[in-house]
Amino acid sequence: MTEGVRKNLTLNPWKETQGIIFKALLEYTQTPIQEIHDLLFDKAGLRVLVKREDLNHPTVSGNKWWKLKYNLEEAKKLGYKTLLTFGGAYSNHIFSTAAAAHELGYESIGIIRGEEAHPLNPTLTFAKSRGMKLKYITREAYRQKTNPDFIESLHMEFEDFYLIPEGGTNALAVKGVEEFAQTLGDEFDYLCCAVGTGGTLAGLINGIGSSTEILGFSVLKGGEFLKDEVEKLIGKEAKNWSLVTDYHFGGYGKTTAALLEFIKDRLTKNNLPLDSVYTGKLVAGVYDLIEKGYFRRGATILMVHSGGLQINRP
Ligand SMILES: *Cc1c(COP(=O)(O)O)cnc(C)c1O
Repeated sequence: MTEGVRKNLTLNPWKETQGIIFKALLEYTQTPIQEIHDLLFDKAGLRVLVKREDLNHPTVSGNKWWKLKYNLEEAKKLGYKTLLTFGGAYSNHIFSTAAAAHELGYESIGIIRGEEAHPLNPTLTFAKSRGMKLKYITREAYRQKTNPDFIESLHMEFEDFYLIPEGGTNALAVKGVEEFAQTLGDEFDYLCCAVGTGGTLAGLINGIGSSTEILGFSVLKGGEFLKDEVEKLIGKEAKNWSLVTDYHFGGYGKTTAALLEFIKDRLTKNNLPLDSVYTGKLVAGVYDLIEKGYFRRGATILMVHSGGLQINRP
């Protein structure tokens, strides 16, 4: 993993944030860029790199770290002591919010979609171990998660809290990812990422120069609606990006034997660990587009490893 690694950056955005001093600071570690090799890339005349943002923090990890950064700062600025957010039982965002809250001394509440199941899965076990209070609500109730009356009822129950939306996507999350994008330099022609809510893709579009082509790979079935979501989040005209919707492998949280095999191969052949919900689908999609001749010969592709590996832990 030493190849192509940039060592000259010593960013620590937490310590540079507008003089706001957190009691406990999350350390940002500048992550490596890993080059991966395959006969397929040689044939297509391509260089393929992976920005290992999964390594940026041991628990907050990946794109969620950047999406939370300015939200945590805002919560601090406004004097909140509690964070409340929403997610499914396997949500990386729930995992990361619980981790960040714990490290920075916030109370945290997770509103979880669906019934409580025992034993708790690893995501919720971790969240609970970091002090997150879990409240389970039905799928019908969960659909009300942005409804002001419903939010008001949560305030009646939990009093004051800073609300972070499902998946952590809001304007401050986009701002955080934009800052991440600006650390990437410009030594690549294509930038590829996995897309759940579109917050990460939006931040990359806003933070990267217009000469780079950006591809977002939807992990949701029927993810075409995400194009409008991303347009709303970027809030400007941009033509250098597109949403790829052919690599959802059955939909969110779904997988196939072929995808799992592909993920296993990337670990053994390229020393690249991937998860089956997001990054596995991204990398499989990029491989397939390479095979189909989508990318220009001579180009460099940079994929963002957005984390999510805790799902692989036993
Ligand atoms: C949440 C998540 C994404 C999707 O990010 P969005 O901003 O919701 O599109 C991608 N990869 C991983 C590993 C994630 O946990």
